[in-house]
Amino acid sequence: MGLTGLQPGRSTITAAPMPAHRDEWEERLLAHPTLLRDIAESVGGQFHLMYPARVAVNIKAFQQVFAGKGVVGAIYYGKKANKSPAVVRACAENGAGVDVSSAGEFRAALAGGVLGHDLMVTGPAKSQELLSLAARHRALVAIDDLDELARLSALGSAHGVLGSAHGVLGGAQGGARALLRVLPPGSTSRFGMTGDELDLALTLIDADSIRLEGFSFHLRGYAVADRAALASTLIARCREARGLGHPVTTLSIGGGFGVDYVPAAAWDAFRDGVNPRWFHSDRAPQPDSYYPYHCPVPGPAMLAAILDYEDLGDRLRAAGIRIAIEPGRALLDRAGSTVFQVQGAKTRTAHGHPYRILTVNGTSLSLSEQWFDSEYLPDPVLWPQRPGSVSPTCVGGSSCLEEDMLSWRRIPLPRPAVTDDLLIYPNTAGYQMDSNESAFHDQPIPPKVVLHNVTGERCFEWELDSPN
Ligand SMILES: *Cc1c(COP(=O)(O)O)cnc(C)c1O
Repeated sequence: MGLTGLQPGRSTITAAPMPAHRDEWEERLLAHPTLLRDIAESVGGQFHLMYPARVAVNIKAFQQVFAGKGVVGAIYYGKKANKSPAVVRACAENGAGVDVSSAGEFRAALAGGVLGHDLMVTGPAKSQELLSLAARHRALVAIDDLDELARLSALGSAHGVLGSAHGVLGGAQGGARALLRVLPPGSTSRFGMTGDELDLALTLIDADSIRLEGFSFHLRGYAVADRAALASTLIARCREARGLGHPVTTLSIGGGFGVDYVPAAAWDAFRDGVNPRWFHSDRAPQPDSYYPYHCPVPGPAMLAAILDYEDLGDRLRAAGIRIAIEPGRALLDRAGSTVFQVQGAKTRTAHGHPYRILTVNGTSLSLSEQWFDSEYLPDPVLWPQRPGSVSPTCVGGSSCLEEDMLSWRRIPLPRPAVTDDLLIYPNTAGYQMDSNESAFHDQPIPPKVVLHNVTGERCFEWELDSPN
């Protein structure tokens, strides 16, 4: 971008637009003359929309990468990214397992129809209740330390007599099913085991009570090379464990598959121009605090890049190793959005220019990113869509906290928003909509509305998701 492009961006009080990619269901919904209003009136407050058919599309896209690369692969949905039972059902119906880390998540996954055998249990120092559920249901447990290995081993010998169940992701025999979670070399993560601990674990495992099926890791960030390189070194670990007689079949490379929220040009323009003048109270997040909202190689394409990296896929196939992934955010890409109604609007000035501050019928607890010293950047859509002139607009929540802002930045809305307009924040299913929500101010936790396709003018049928 040249200087002429930059200067207006730096002097204006209006942030650069960040229009999100839209899935076809979102286009249909926004174009529908009455559906959004009907739902808003029936629900009587803020709500989230979930479109599980898109989860199915995302699952299939990952499965196609496995098939295309000729590797055996398994998907375990990282459940903490969204509690909706509709997502679990989509997993059960489309051949994906679920990655859980609490007894509540475990039970919710079973209730949604996922077999115990198709559950992966992760997290540090798991509760006895969770380990016991896992052993009884023959779930795969990613062991985080030696103490946990001993506790699972005790449960494994107790439950081994119950025989085996068979799920869609592979077979099983006696003993509690386990992976050993690896602390990546050089990492300061609190999760996983060091090389010495792994060596010790391999000598301690009693094959009658623990069925060691492989190794796992989960990395921060979105780097292809880091994941491929670590997976590659763990092929040797798999061979070593097989040499000791363990039935090792699986290497889990965790989650962290990127999501592409906005086009490259918008993201570049935002990063080039971002400065405190764009934000209410001049309160701009640190430049390096943003999620990378443009991801050139997202989700399934990132999996393909990992498998291509130094022929990792070929080497896994040659070694007879099944690769597991635990995508959370990426499985929810474009599968949900969050709808607020405008309750009031006032005009203020900043740096000599007028702008609007909206208050909506919900709080920023529904946009988790706002609570990580950052900002959720995909722009909300103002509905109904009508022509007008661009209006720089911040969005506040209905609580009494100054901090409760859904958008500190002044978004270039296409017209001035008025009371009763709807604001639809896009692509919120992954982590935004329900990790931080609470009944703060005695406001109910916003319901999730599940959309299903129907033919004809109605376009969609909707129902309330079962409670979380
Ligand atoms: C959170 C988590 C995931 C999911 O991560 P995403 O970034 O949402 O893909 C997967 N595995 C483990 C162990 C996790 O803690």
